[in-house]
Amino acid sequence: MVLVAEDSEALRQIISQIVMDLGHSVCAVKNGQEAVDACKQQEQNIDLIIMDAEMPVMDGISSTFKIRSIMGENWIPIIFLSAYTDENYIQRALDSGADVYLRKPVNRVELSAQIKAMGRIAEMKQKLDELNTQLQNLADQDGLTKIANRRVFNERISYELKFCARNKLPFSLALCDIDFFKLYNDTYGHLAGDNCLKKVAKTLERSFKRETDLVARYGGEEFAILLHGADSKEALLLLEAMLANIKSLDIPHSASNITKHITISVGLVTNDGAGSEITPNSFIQRADKALYEAKEKGRNRIVAH
Ligand code: GH3
Ligand code: MG
Ligand code: MG
Ligand code: MG
Repeated sequence: MVLVAEDSEALRQIISQIVMDLGHSVCAVKNGQEAVDACKQQEQNIDLIIMDAEMPVMDGISSTFKIRSIMGENWIPIIFLSAYTDENYIQRALDSGADVYLRKPVNRVELSAQIKAMGRIAEMKQKLDELNTQLQNLADQDGLTKIANRRVFNERISYELKFCARNKLPFSLALCDIDFFKLYNDTYGHLAGDNCLKKVAKTLERSFKRETDLVARYGGEEFAILLHGADSKEALLLLEAMLANIKSLDIPHSASNITKHITISVGLVTNDGAGSEITPNSFIQRADKALYEAKEKGRNRIVAH
C-alpha cells in the first residue's frame, strides 16, 4: 500500500491515480501529521510514502523525520515532492530521511519510474531481511537437535551474569549430561543415539516455558540450561519436573546400570544476585563440579552447589 501525503486535493487525486495505475492501493492523507499517524497505527502495510513538502499542521520534512524515527530499522522508501529548487532545502529534505527528491509540477513518467525503482529496492531489502533471519536462525541453532547451540549459550551466560548481578536478580545454571550414553550408542547404534538426543533436547526445551529461560546443546550429550531470575529453590523445582518429563519419555536403555530407561544427571549452581559479579568460566566450572558429583553419587539426580 502506498501512502500519499498531499494537502492539495487535485494533486492528491492525480498522484493517487498514478499510483493506482501501477497496480498499488492507496491511502491518501491531507497533512504530515496524518501521515505520521498512519505509520504509527500500521493498520495497513505501508510499502512506500509519497510526501508533499508544504502542508498544514505538519510539513513534509518534519513528518519524514518523525516517520524515520518511529520506523527505526524498518525502512520504507519515501519519495519527496516539492516545488522548492533551493539546494539547502533539498539537502534538508534528504537529510530528514527522504530517499528521492522530485520537483513539482509532478511528472507522471518520472514519478512512475521512481515508484517502480523504490519498489524493486524494497523487494530486494525484504528478501535480504528474510535471508538474514534464516541465516541468524542457522547460526543460533544446533544442527541435530534444532535447539540453541553453544554460541548462543556463551553469549547469553555472559549477558545474564552481568544483567542479573546489576539488577540483584538470582540466576541459575544447570549442566545436564545423559547417563551412559556411550553404552546407548553401543547398544542401539549411532542413529538411534541421534534420535534420542533430539527427543531429550525437545523435552528439556518444553520443560522451561519462560521467555528468558534458555536450553542449549552444550556439547555431544550435554545440555545447558540458563534460568534468569530463578533462585536455587525454584531452579530445583523446575529441574525435578524436567527429570520427571525425561522419565516419562521412557526411552529404553537396557545397558544402563541404574534404570532401564534414559536418565540424565544435573549439576546446578545459583548466583543469588546479592554478591559480586562472577565470570562465566568460573560459574560453568562450578556447575561442572556439581555435575561430576551427581555422576559420582549414582547418576539420575540433581546436585546443587
Ligand atoms: P556418563 O554417564 O558418565 O556421562 O557416561 P557416558 O557414556 O554418557 O559418557 P561419555 O562421555 O563416555 O560418552 C558420551 C557419548 O556420547 C560418547 C559419544 O559417542 C556420544 N555422543 C556425543 N555426541 C553425539 C551425537 O551427536 N550423536 C550420538 N549418537 N552420540 C553422541
Ligand atoms: Mg502542499
Ligand atoms: Mg558427557
Ligand atoms: Mg554422559
